[in-house]
Amino acid sequence: MHLLNRMTLCVMITATTALQSVEADELISLKYGEVVVNLDVNQVPELKDWGIKAANLALEWHPRICNLISTKGVAPANELSIRLIESEEGIASTQGTVITISSRWIKNHPDDLGLVIHELAHVIQGYPEGNPWWVTEGIADYVRNVVFEGKSQQLFAVPLDEKGYLQGYNTAAGFLFWLESDLAPGIVRRLNTSIRNRKYSDVVFKELTGQSLDELWDTYCQENITKR
Ligand SMILES: [Zn+2]
Repeated sequence: MHLLNRMTLCVMITATTALQSVEADELISLKYGEVVVNLDVNQVPELKDWGIKAANLALEWHPRICNLISTKGVAPANELSIRLIESEEGIASTQGTVITISSRWIKNHPDDLGLVIHELAHVIQGYPEGNPWWVTEGIADYVRNVVFEGKSQQLFAVPLDEKGYLQGYNTAAGFLFWLESDLAPGIVRRLNTSIRNRKYSDVVFKELTGQSLDELWDTYCQENITKR
């Protein structure tokens, strides 16, 4: 680990804050193998330990997620940034290779390292504009909930709504998990590759299972009702 003396990210800060933060501005750069994580805790130095834990987790899981959603001919970014920002709202977001996490969320949920995995999955997805939102978030939560946290199928909530998969996140993740386990093994990787190659269409579901997306969702809901 070595320190870099320049903050390369653009952050909206007041003049007073900027003057005070000149000396403290630094990125902590962690490297393992070919992967580099640049950690920025200048706004919240008290969260440095949490940030280092998050950065090390990203280093450890980057190659695993790359392999899990690999696509022939695609090399995901192997350098990313984690910015912890002083904020009273929000949780986390990812733009390109920059993950931003809110201080309030970390302080209230210090054990929520799963969010780092979710955002890291977005960095590795590296999808082009126009990607199907619910699939993008569903895959990120599949990586987080199914693979990283080891959550079992029956613990995923199933909203019995028409097209409920459009809720994305762990709802879509549970649906993808169910498909992977039975009707469409490999669908997560297949969907991921189709989005990366700008070829995503709901038809992928039909091609893999013989059933349309909505038919599959209905079956998923029916099975869930039967279990209750
Ligand atoms: Zn997300």
